[in-house]
Amino acid sequence: MVLFASQDASKEGPKQDIWGSGARLFFLIGKLASSESIVEPCLLDYEMLQGQVHSGGATGAGAISSEGTQDTRAGEVLQEAQLELAPEKAERGKVLPNYEAFPPPPKVPTTWWQLLHHLLFFGLGIGTLLFQPSWLPDWKLTLVMYLYSDFMSALLHRTFDHEECLKVPALDFVAYGFQMHHAWPMESTKGVGLYRLFCDTVRIQWILLVCFAVISSHTLLAAQILYLKLLFGAYGSAVGHFYAHFPENQRPFLVRTLQGLHLLLPPKHHAVHHRAPYNENLTSVSGLTDFIVNPLLKDCPFIPTLLTLLGLSMFDIRLIEGLYSRFM
Ligand SMILES: [Zn+2]
Ligand SMILES: [Zn+2]
Repeated sequence: MVLFASQDASKEGPKQDIWGSGARLFFLIGKLASSESIVEPCLLDYEMLQGQVHSGGATGAGAISSEGTQDTRAGEVLQEAQLELAPEKAERGKVLPNYEAFPPPPKVPTTWWQLLHHLLFFGLGIGTLLFQPSWLPDWKLTLVMYLYSDFMSALLHRTFDHEECLKVPALDFVAYGFQMHHAWPMESTKGVGLYRLFCDTVRIQWILLVCFAVISSHTLLAAQILYLKLLFGAYGSAVGHFYAHFPENQRPFLVRTLQGLHLLLPPKHHAVHHRAPYNENLTSVSGLTDFIVNPLLKDCPFIPTLLTLLGLSMFDIRLIEGLYSRFM
């Protein structure tokens, strides 16, 4: 439910101040009239109220101060609100019963080598388009890889969403990022920006490049499969997930259209994933393969999921190349 609270607040966008003031007034009037426990914090977006108390709250109290005696009472109410909301803030990141609350995602700077990676990747694609168009993949392979990448995004997601993965060395920090997202959905997507999400995929792209260099055949078809796998699986997945958490009134027209057509992950579809136990609608590209993925992965234990992910990550290019050559 964290997703809905955060999304609702963000959707308000420019109206937030008006809503914030209204909510605060409603809150204060209710408190002053009844002198009973405060309005349930869950009725108001926690962060919005907390933000008003910390920053706008001073302005609100100042406005009321002209009312004389209400000034002290309003100040008390705001202080009480802070005290009563403080324990809830400490629990905000708590999504796993047996794991401590996740703190908000830190601002991690991007690096020059991540930028270089993106430039080389898209430079290669644009260069091929301009100077060697015969090397471009055909529409059938593009469609297959678009759907396959959606499926792989779910397999990756399911693997790292398993609580056991938080204890596996070398995988634990990736699992942490995935599961922290359940606690801080907006903060870890819109809050960090799309470019940061692109950069987060660079490490796994390099692992896939090494797998390709060592295991796959080095044909044009294999290179096309690899390129489309990274394009849709890494960048497409980041774009799909980013805009699934983006406020509706700030999404570009093209994004809204693609989401409406289910060609890019629709927010309502992804919202299903953000309900405990976070094991449905795991895809990040389009959501088109969830009807296959949900029954397969929903209750799949950690070890089989991890082994399938490792196996496919290493051998999928060979597999797809063989199937594609034979049937298409
Ligand atoms: Zn998840
Ligand atoms: Zn999400």
